[in-house]
Amino acid sequence: MSASLEQTLAKGLAERQQQQLYRQRRTVASAQGAEIVVDGQRCLNFCSNDYLGLANHPKLIEAARLAADSYGVGSGASHLVCGHSTEHHALEEELAELTGRSRALLFSTGYMANLGAITALVGKGDFVFEDKLNHASLIDGGLLSGARFQRFLHNDVDALDKRLSRCADEGRKLVVVDGVFSMDGDIAPLPELAATCAKHDAWLMVDDAHGLGVLGGSGAGCADQYHLDQQQLPILMATLGKGLGSSGAFIAGSDELIETLIQFSRSYIYTTAMPPMVAAATRASIKLLSTESWRRGYLADLIAFFRRGAEQLGLDIMPSSTAIQPLLIGDAGKAMAYSRALQQRGFWVGAIRPPTVAAGSARLRITLTAAHSEEQVEQLLLALAEVAAADGRGELDHA
Ligand SMILES: *Cc1c(COP(=O)(O)O)cnc(C)c1O
Repeated sequence: MSASLEQTLAKGLAERQQQQLYRQRRTVASAQGAEIVVDGQRCLNFCSNDYLGLANHPKLIEAARLAADSYGVGSGASHLVCGHSTEHHALEEELAELTGRSRALLFSTGYMANLGAITALVGKGDFVFEDKLNHASLIDGGLLSGARFQRFLHNDVDALDKRLSRCADEGRKLVVVDGVFSMDGDIAPLPELAATCAKHDAWLMVDDAHGLGVLGGSGAGCADQYHLDQQQLPILMATLGKGLGSSGAFIAGSDELIETLIQFSRSYIYTTAMPPMVAAATRASIKLLSTESWRRGYLADLIAFFRRGAEQLGLDIMPSSTAIQPLLIGDAGKAMAYSRALQQRGFWVGAIRPPTVAAGSARLRITLTAAHSEEQVEQLLLALAEVAAADGRGELDHA
């Protein structure tokens, strides 16, 4: 007799639980911010990607409200049918200007932008090269494309160079990396990658989900920080739901790139456009990058403050200069125990486990934002030291 759907699934779930990899959601009853209410408990939030503290900014709320008055809520259809509003169009123009690219194209999510761009650019007979630590959406896009898929050692430009040298002349070559690696916080060696791509006639695509708004003199992200123009970095992707505090994503580049995506990118074509009010809120957020540029400087100071404190306390903070400051734990169960102990003390810090990161490299993913005060960061540091000490005495609840 064959097992029922539920029996089969229950077995997989039990296995997941046994491996300490079971994932559970917690319910938030407030807006994003340094303090949030989760499962009825007020706590300090150190796990959001709202790096600039804009997700609940009055200007974004006002822009969304005004746009809702004119456009309603739903966009009604995909961009190619009747869902492409003047708010979307203006946002695309502003994103192109911000990033110094000819054009930009909005997608409803970053996951879809990556899937849609990679599959529109390469296919059977082509090559795609990805950093081992790339975000899941980039990996999935590479696999789905049907191109020959190779992963190279993290940030190892020589390894990439060798792989590019070995591959046949025919076929397109696409190199894809995260600008800031989402679970490690380190930055890709973009100038070297761009030079290597130029040498081998390969196209470079960078996912700047964690750099946009935060990095670079004007907040335009990693391309801005390294002064990489459209020729050096022809395919620039970033998301709007992190530093910019709204939702959605875009690809920026040449007119030919954008037209190609409009024609061939299935996750662009076959999906409903984001609500115009979200586009309007994002436009407000772009304005704040210059009118409240102090947020970037303040965040940088807070990162330095956290790192100094962590080093003084002897915490095993990974090397990162960005708002993502992971504390390596190793064992998945122990990472969960750390997260629970912090939760009991009123802090929300996410434990990141396989398969999101490699086996044996589970970690606390601590994120800092411009909404945090130095006092709140100080409180986190003390709590981390307390929990680490409890772990050292073998007192951490290992449920
Ligand atoms: C968050 C993230 C995405 C996905 O973006 P969404 O808009 O949340 O779908 C893609 N790439 C990276 C590196 C990310 O961190």
